[in-house]
Amino acid sequence: MNKKVAIAGAGITGLVSAFYLKKAGIDFRIFEKTDRCGGVIQSVSENGFIYETGPNTGTLSNIETTELFEDLSDYFELELADEKAEKRLILKNGKWEELPSGLISGITTPLFTAADKLRLLGEPFRKAGKNPSESVAELVIRRMGKSFLDYAVDPFVSGIYAGDPYYLVTKYALPKLYDLEQKYGSFIGGAIKKAREPKSEAEKKVTKKIFSAKGGLSEIINAIVKNTGKENIKFNADTEIQKKGNLFIIDDEEYTDVISTVNAGELPGLFPFLDKKILDDITSVKYAEVAEIAAGFNKWEGISLDAFGGLIPSKENKNVLGILFMSTLFSGRAPEEGALLTFFAGGTKKMHLARMSEEELLSILKPELADLLGLSDFKPDLLKIFYHKKAIAQYGADSKKRTDAVKHLQNEHKGLFLGGSIIDGVGMADRIKQAKKIVSKISE
Ligand SMILES: Cc1cc2nc3c(=O)[nH]c(=O)nc-3n(C[C@H](O)[C@H](O)[C@H](O)COP(=O)(O)OP(=O)(O)OC[C@H]3O[C@@H](n4cnc5c(N)ncnc54)[C@H](O)[C@@H]3O)c2cc1C
Repeated sequence: MNKKVAIAGAGITGLVSAFYLKKAGIDFRIFEKTDRCGGVIQSVSENGFIYETGPNTGTLSNIETTELFEDLSDYFELELADEKAEKRLILKNGKWEELPSGLISGITTPLFTAADKLRLLGEPFRKAGKNPSESVAELVIRRMGKSFLDYAVDPFVSGIYAGDPYYLVTKYALPKLYDLEQKYGSFIGGAIKKAREPKSEAEKKVTKKIFSAKGGLSEIINAIVKNTGKENIKFNADTEIQKKGNLFIIDDEEYTDVISTVNAGELPGLFPFLDKKILDDITSVKYAEVAEIAAGFNKWEGISLDAFGGLIPSKENKNVLGILFMSTLFSGRAPEEGALLTFFAGGTKKMHLARMSEEELLSILKPELADLLGLSDFKPDLLKIFYHKKAIAQYGADSKKRTDAVKHLQNEHKGLFLGGSIIDGVGMADRIKQAKKIVSKISE
């Protein structure tokens, strides 16, 4: 039988898989539980604002993402963040401070203690760790010092995972940082050596720049769907996949391969034939619950928004995790003199906030936001709240067990690919890379 692939989920992982299957001339069909494409990605245009209800920005962090955008360049306009995005704010003692970007600002910043700044000089000479299960917090304290954990890494981790650096395991949660220490013996020395290594033309395009699309991230989804064909997606699908010999059966149709991109909790229902005990090692993955708030102002009268946004370290004991200055980063997000901001609350440390009613949540956040943004009163012209129950998978100490379980099930059932953010990274660029990797295995 010729290859025929079923894809569960029409989020970015499923759609990019479809895009590359089509390119390889392989027949496919997508099964999507809801009535729309994009999964957590969704941009909305309303009253002069464009806001996101899920992810807001991506990073050009791998070759696969830059190549996908080149492939799609006739179908959407990639927008890189304004250079003001280089400036990142961190709250310390209730005041916004700029995250240092060079030597001088690194010496003068009030974010880190003098002792830790001095200690950093010894970072290149410290021995590499040997524990593959070491948490992000343990690693950072060992190599850099507690104030770097509190005022750089904790807010950074909260920006990506809405998680806890003591829970997340570096090898899985921040693999590039882990590799830097393992391969080069040091973060500082490793970063310098890596920057000096010769790069291929494709690698040079991996600029780590922040991206979106003109009109919002949904435009990337629309571009992929235009290429892959909406007619190849079954919406409102209540899918249960059966096994017959080596083939997978959905709605009496046979498939040689199946790519799953769904959240861990969906797997038992989708694949009733998978060994429940092994599946438990996957479904037990913890997710951060997050409340996301988009706020639009027709006329901005608060603090200067000339930055990427502001992150709030756990030590500051606030309810808001971070603020993105979206209308600074990308064009057309707010009226001329206005502003569009996105806030996050909840995460693994303050999950109860993500479970509050809108009214309760706003009564807590409004005074805090007014204070953080230099407003006499927090009264936006547009205010939308989105709750994400399974926002971000947390790559903790159970990650090896989960990764092994995925490999085990894939070996047991040839043609099965368990993708999505249960493994391989939680960012959009990670999802694109994973989709391409799966399709290249199918095309072998
Ligand atoms: C609030 C939030 C903010 C984020 N911020 C960023 C960011 O700033 N930058 C970044 O790079 N990443 C960010 N991310 C992560 C990024 O958005 C995701 O990793 C990525 O979009 C996930 O894509 P996916 O296709 O793997 O999964 P999803 O988008 O979850 O898509 C899975 C699809 O499967 C469908 N589905 C579920 N169950 C079934 C079933 N049984 N059968 C069929 N279909 C099913 C779902 O309806 C959905 O459409 C954020 C995520 C969230 C939630």
